[in-house]
Amino acid sequence: MTVIMDGKLTAEKITAEIKTEVSALTVKPKLAVIKVGDNPASQIYVRNKQKKALELGINSVVLELPSNVSEENLLEQIYILNEDTDINAVLVQLPLTEHINKQRIIEAIEPIKDVDGFTSFNFGRLALGYQPYTFPCTPKGIIRLMDEYNINLEGKKAVVIGRSNIVGKPLSLLLQRQNATVIMAHSKTINLKEHTLSADIIVSAVGHPNLITADMVSEGAVIIDVGINRIDNKLIGDVDFNTVKEKVSFITPVPGGIGPMTIAMLMENTLELYKFQKSLGL
Ligand code: NAD
Repeated sequence: MTVIMDGKLTAEKITAEIKTEVSALTVKPKLAVIKVGDNPASQIYVRNKQKKALELGINSVVLELPSNVSEENLLEQIYILNEDTDINAVLVQLPLTEHINKQRIIEAIEPIKDVDGFTSFNFGRLALGYQPYTFPCTPKGIIRLMDEYNINLEGKKAVVIGRSNIVGKPLSLLLQRQNATVIMAHSKTINLKEHTLSADIIVSAVGHPNLITADMVSEGAVIIDVGINRIDNKLIGDVDFNTVKEKVSFITPVPGGIGPMTIAMLMENTLELYKFQKSLGL
């Protein structure tokens, strides 16, 4: 029987523990989120992050900057947050507007406050197999959810579709840490089906509805659907859920799968950074 992996429930369990831990702290952790412009999806994501932080007793502040903010001005805001000892975690909501150099902005975040794990310091440590200050939230949430369902990754063939810096690439590194054999597929991959059919685990992080259909998966595979596509005001993933679920052993739904896990990991990363900074007397 197919198991629908409940990311919402798992995230609630994790965040309940975070809430308990935070409630015992006299000084609360504090997350700063910078949002540039008024991208509708970003508005929702930032609001959800703020709401979750509030629910867990984590302080948060959102800096809303206009879409025409200069790169220098945005950098200045990051430097201020880096210096502010009340702030433990800094997040710049992506995507940024065209005129801003994303790499320069992300690199400006102090690695010890880099709650998304996107700076080259933290990402480099992840790639080298060292301990970063934080692991990127979505890949970390995917690994945690599979762990919750006792899915053993060692020696398994995992096909990760999508090679973005925020999901596919760091996830492939995390899967390798768990001794999976990883294949990275992307928009230039020829004959994706050939790869997915021989995979024990398929992760789709593309943003393309029905990219993964039942004929592309083998019986008993594990399917992780990261994609978020808004169709007729409804959220769906990259996987043709209803037909694929008939064949596989585990599958994540959209919504209620990886989305809530990502937010839970953001909260966990905020708390971890707070604790690490405190341990250093900062
Ligand atoms: P992105 O847009 O930066 O990259 C998409 C990737 O998909 C690229 O590497 C590209 O090569 C690959 N790709 C495009 N078309 C393809 C095809 N036909 N076959 C194979 N590969 C193809 O992606 P991203 O920022 O990683 O986001 C991917 C999806 O995941 C989006 O739908 C996004 O909304 C969603 N997402 C969800 C969460 C969550 O918490 N659930 C978090 C981050 C992203």
